[in-house]
Amino acid sequence: MKAADFRYVRPKTLEAALSYLAGEADAMPLAGGQSLMPMMNFRLAAPELLVDLNDLSELDYVSASPDGWLEIGAMTRYRTLSAHPHLPCYAPLIAKALPHVAHAAIRNRGTVGGSIALADPAAELPAILLALAGEVVLQGPSGERVVEADDYVLGPYMTAREDGELVTKVRIPLAKDGDRFGFCELTRRHGDYAMAGCFVAASHDFEAVRIALFGVADRPVRSFGAEVALQGHRGDDADLEKAVAALTDVEMMGDVHNTADTKQHLAGVALKRAFLEARG
Ligand code: FAD
Repeated sequence: MKAADFRYVRPKTLEAALSYLAGEADAMPLAGGQSLMPMMNFRLAAPELLVDLNDLSELDYVSASPDGWLEIGAMTRYRTLSAHPHLPCYAPLIAKALPHVAHAAIRNRGTVGGSIALADPAAELPAILLALAGEVVLQGPSGERVVEADDYVLGPYMTAREDGELVTKVRIPLAKDGDRFGFCELTRRHGDYAMAGCFVAASHDFEAVRIALFGVADRPVRSFGAEVALQGHRGDDADLEKAVAALTDVEMMGDVHNTADTKQHLAGVALKRAFLEARG
């Protein structure tokens, strides 16, 4: 199928983009187009006006702020981010996960802001944001606001972003010496969306542990039960089994490939592997 008719604008500034979005109820931003164009061609999305963000170089940057945050502009492409020389030191989890986001051609175009705005339940970046206690910065007609990752994704493909608002950047605490990170993703083929995945972020002594799962529920989700089971522990076999059992606090959701029970099992496998990587 082909997309329904639409009008197209390509503003040069963020201000102009926001004013186009505010001026039309059925306007949608276009970033890398890797999800939106297929959605339009399948008529799952039919915006009247497409506001192309690709000239907004002001949203294309990766920087470390003096107050300890990694800031990534919304129009930063996956490829640009993964090529950043300091990424493995600033955010090891992102560096580990990016090669697993889709395929090279998609990573050349897809953007951080597009992924965060879409909030696919099986996508890596929204789950990383949860594991790392990141923040999403939104800008709309009434100014800028910051939403913590825990409050950002509200349901399947539903976020705290309101109509007329753009994701302008994400902020992630810079990794500190001794912080521990682990990642595991189970897919049918490399580059596919995850059947189940897990990010673990912990302090060096495991007193603080955050566990985010993706691909298993209707949204990226933390397992508070598993976090409690592993806090203060070094993850011996008994601790890990307790953590896996505690994953029942997540409402698993089956899909065309796997039942909810299989997702529960796969989430446990991903958690164990990610935790063991973090433990080292
Ligand atoms: P677009 O497609 O341009 O936009 C996506 C949505 O976000 C649209 O609704 C758009 O209006 C909105 N939007 C875009 N930018 C903004 C903004 N700054 N503010 C507000 N709204 C905005 N992703 C993964 O994470 N993991 C995978 O394994 C994976 N596999 C894939 C495999 C295939 C075959 C394909 C086609 C895609 C896959 N993707 C995967 C999705 C890919 O990462 C997309 O690039 C991403 O989800 C959307 O980014 P984009 O820049 O292309 O956004």
